[in-house]
Amino acid sequence: MLRITTLGTSHGRLTPRRSHTATLVQTGNRNYLIDAGTPSFYTLSQMGFFQEKKMLDAVLITHCHLDHTNDLPLILAKVAHARTDETLPPFEVILPEARDIPPLKMWCDINQEHEKYFHHVHFGVMPQRFEDGTIELTAIANKHLAHEPAASFSFLLKAEGKKIFFSGDVCGDLSDFPGEKMDDCDAVFYEMTHYPFEQSMELFRRRKIKRLIFQHIWEEWDTPEGRAKFARLTANLPFPAEMAEDGTEYCF
Ligand SMILES: [Zn+2]
Ligand SMILES: [Zn+2]
Repeated sequence: MLRITTLGTSHGRLTPRRSHTATLVQTGNRNYLIDAGTPSFYTLSQMGFFQEKKMLDAVLITHCHLDHTNDLPLILAKVAHARTDETLPPFEVILPEARDIPPLKMWCDINQEHEKYFHHVHFGVMPQRFEDGTIELTAIANKHLAHEPAASFSFLLKAEGKKIFFSGDVCGDLSDFPGEKMDDCDAVFYEMTHYPFEQSMELFRRRKIKRLIFQHIWEEWDTPEGRAKFARLTANLPFPAEMAEDGTEYCF
């Protein structure tokens, strides 16, 4: 079974019910974190993670914005200390670009988490494809940070015969809408902050998706009016659409 838990579903601004972006992917006895917004370290700890028997195997970052990366140093340091089984493959920390690695190590270093503690950690740059024998994840470049410029990715995950799409953050004019790349997915997790949502409905309507789950949610959608508008706009989609909550668990 493939289990996906939306740990944090807000955009950059926190709300009382939503925190920064982090999504836990669990399959077999392997655990992956896509993005590490705050308070994912706390949330995972509350879920019993960072024990010998319940450990993260990889963190994969879609792009470097603090609402997606802020808890990464804490998680990295905790896993490096707690993951003592040397027979396991190294803990994978996959960042969007090579230039992202030194500042992360430096931030850890000035906080007394020195590189010598990271001997069983592999720092990698988002390859086009991440494969570890359990999951296969394809990184698809999007235009969210094209203006910086910096790398930003959507992810297509294959595991246990299922296909799941994660948009990450996308750009404001829908020009990086992934279109057919989402077709035949068992679920699409899509952000709903950075682009004109109403206009996107026409693009979504043409896709062959089994289930559309929105996250990275702007607070106006959490009002009674926002929820009514969401229901109205998504009513004509040929597949179910919903907004995730922090802690919602989806099984595929
Ligand atoms: Zn974001
Ligand atoms: Zn962003």
